[in-house]
Amino acid sequence: MNCSEAEILLHALLDGELDAGNAREVEVHVENCARCAPQLRAYRGLRQAMPIAQLHFAAPASLRRRIEQAFPAPRPRATTRRSMLRGFVMGAAVSTAMAASLVVAVFRTDQEQRVLGDVVSAHVRSLQAEHLTDVRTSDQHTVKPWFNGKVDIAPPVVDLTAKGFMLLGGRLDYIDGQNVPSIVYRRRTHVINLFVMQGAAAEACEPRLQTVLGFNIQCWTANGLELFAISDINAQELREFAEKFEAALRPANET
Ligand SMILES: [Zn+2]
Repeated sequence: MNCSEAEILLHALLDGELDAGNAREVEVHVENCARCAPQLRAYRGLRQAMPIAQLHFAAPASLRRRIEQAFPAPRPRATTRRSMLRGFVMGAAVSTAMAASLVVAVFRTDQEQRVLGDVVSAHVRSLQAEHLTDVRTSDQHTVKPWFNGKVDIAPPVVDLTAKGFMLLGGRLDYIDGQNVPSIVYRRRTHVINLFVMQGAAAEACEPRLQTVLGFNIQCWTANGLELFAISDINAQELREFAEKFEAALRPANET
């Protein structure tokens, strides 16, 4: 471990977010490093000083009045509540997006981290920007050719509506520096994005279910492609989605 790696992990060490192996590596480096040791001491000192310091500041009443005057008169209650709720939803989505663009987890490799981070960001973006689908249709024979000429791969598109996963359409997205097709499904009120990638994403594709920032991600390989399904539906349902999709891909099941 070198100094720049250690520096990135110092905060995680202080916050108790590192697993035993990584924590030990950082500690061993810091112990023997003239640059990192004082840094860690400084962070520890800062951390102890923060709760003691008077960081709370009460704004004067005059400021409150000025802020209130700057806002338009309150609108009827129903509208206000709806816009307030919308504000919360947007706020949550934006924080999730910001969090996703930060570090996903310190233990993953750079490649995994980048791909999974991009998958989460793309999923959140698709939900918040009213840009869920570029081609909106439940007809798999319309979605598949729509990707022709837009991406190098031919994404498998299957209609799983009868199996409880409704096909909403397709979208072009951008993950790990490349254009990536997403096939969009809906389960009740939940959206599932299925990203189809090739090659470089393989390292990030683990056959087990992963959870990143509260989203479940199931990846599997089919026909030489890596398929990443992401959603906020529970792990069991996402696994079920992957199984149904996989089963529908098999020629024997085609009707
Ligand atoms: Zn160092």
